[in-house]
Amino acid sequence: MKQSTKIIALERIQILIKNAISNSRTFPKLAQRQADLAKKISTRYRIAMPYEIKMNFCKKCKNFIVPGVNSRIRIGRTSLKSIRVTCRFCGHIYRKVIAQ
Ligand SMILES: [Zn+2]
Repeated sequence: MKQSTKIIALERIQILIKNAISNSRTFPKLAQRQADLAKKISTRYRIAMPYEIKMNFCKKCKNFIVPGVNSRIRIGRTSLKSIRVTCRFCGHIYRKVIAQ
């Protein structure tokens, strides 16, 4: 596959996710569809989703989650600096350590 195809595909993924995030509050169904489409493009062209985009998908139910809309983000209260992301669809919580 041509390298330029991958670049265009990645660009489309980023545009779709950006739109999905801005639509998530007003048009949740549309946002979900745009996120699904972005995911399909990434599998079709075998592109690894950039980390900041992967963060928008629940690791358990694979739903598209937007912070403040359908996921809750909390700072951990322990000495270990971390954030907790709670998915509002399945309640799955995952931790992300941000500093040691
Ligand atoms: Zn979930």
